[in-house]
Amino acid sequence: MSSVILDKVTKVYPGDHLAVDKLSLKAEDGEFLVLLGPSGCGKSTLLRMIAGLEDITEGELWLDGELANQVPPRDRDVAMVFQNGALYPHRTVRGNIAFPLEIAKADPQLVRERVRELSKALHIDETLDRRPGTLSGGQRQRVAMGRAIVRQPRLFLMDEPLSNLDAGMRTELRMEISALVRSLGITTIYVTHDQVEALTLADRIAILNRGVLQDFGTPAQIYNDPATAFVAAFLNSQQLNLLAADVHTPQNQYVMLDFGPHRLSIPWSDPRAYAISQHTGGQVLIGMRPDGLAPVPESYDGPAFYGRVRTLEYHGHEWMAYIECGVPAVPVPEPPDPREVRRGHGASGGGLGALVRRMFPQRQEPQDLEQADQNSSNGLHRRADLTVRLGNRPVWRTGDAAKVGIDMSRLMIFTPDGARIDKPRR
Ligand code: ADP
Repeated sequence: MSSVILDKVTKVYPGDHLAVDKLSLKAEDGEFLVLLGPSGCGKSTLLRMIAGLEDITEGELWLDGELANQVPPRDRDVAMVFQNGALYPHRTVRGNIAFPLEIAKADPQLVRERVRELSKALHIDETLDRRPGTLSGGQRQRVAMGRAIVRQPRLFLMDEPLSNLDAGMRTELRMEISALVRSLGITTIYVTHDQVEALTLADRIAILNRGVLQDFGTPAQIYNDPATAFVAAFLNSQQLNLLAADVHTPQNQYVMLDFGPHRLSIPWSDPRAYAISQHTGGQVLIGMRPDGLAPVPESYDGPAFYGRVRTLEYHGHEWMAYIECGVPAVPVPEPPDPREVRRGHGASGGGLGALVRRMFPQRQEPQDLEQADQNSSNGLHRRADLTVRLGNRPVWRTGDAAKVGIDMSRLMIFTPDGARIDKPRR
């Protein structure tokens, strides 16, 4: 077991390419930590720095309380599994798994026992005498995992180990990885760009973008209470509804979110009201997950949007509805690129928040949906389709007038730059 501390770790590749920027986080003893983010955000670079395969340009890496920047890879007691777990083609499965123990001159009896236990846990005990060339992709990854873990390293690093497998195999192996690693209690750092893998496997998730840590917390914290609009949108199997609203505080009686054709009011008793009111006269971005919205009857007098059903989609276990509500769509603000900031342009110009403001300089206030339709076809703004999760029964048909109830407790409220207005709870 081992703890890992990254303290303001930076990686600059030759050619002044900033891949990881002042990143700090801690993996506790025995923790399963997932590094999640889009391709190119620096996940593998971070993992390779922990393994010692890449130098750390600046900052400190601590393994089990020991400063490890200069410790050679072989002395870090770290095992790694890659996307294509390369195996020794001329050795059998047994020979591949046993290899690390054999070169460490372990007792042959112990080697036999470990190989037997592990191959059973990984469901490859029937293949022990076969060579890698005769195995399926899933079986090969199991062997690679067995070989990495057989000497019980203090740290287990996995770089997208499931991404080359088909969906069924990914789910199966995902559950096995989780069970195996937890039963051994080995601290694990796991890289993926797949939010489902991250949510299902992790004790805690670190989300990166452009080499910068965006959020760090348990899956539930990050899903329900994301630090930025980028994180909220990234952790969403359906598209996150992200809408721009003007903020008013009419006669100081409550806080109003004005979406043009729709308004939502937030009473002062709501803990978020004060933070939102600080943006009175300006704009905020409102994130709504499709499962925080629901069809409601015409008589419903709670917070709701009106619209028209444009499309219904069947997903097997649920239906999704896309509702035209005449509200402008907002692109997810990307956090400022540290490379641009370092070069002295970018964030100072307001980043994408400024872009959003430029996109809607004097926003048209459609009086009704027909007006909104017209604005849209005139190219004044692009309408958002509100994505609503319907469960397993489509209560609407295409073209129906629709009233969408809004769970106000699940609204996520961001600045135009995508930062949370109220502080996430961590
Ligand atoms: P991820 O694993 O999230 O896909 P990587 O860590 O592989 O991201 O890459 C982060 C950034 O660093 C990318 O822009 C990538 O092009 C760059 N990069 C990765 N390896 C090297 C390298 N050896 N030399 C220069 N740039 C690199």
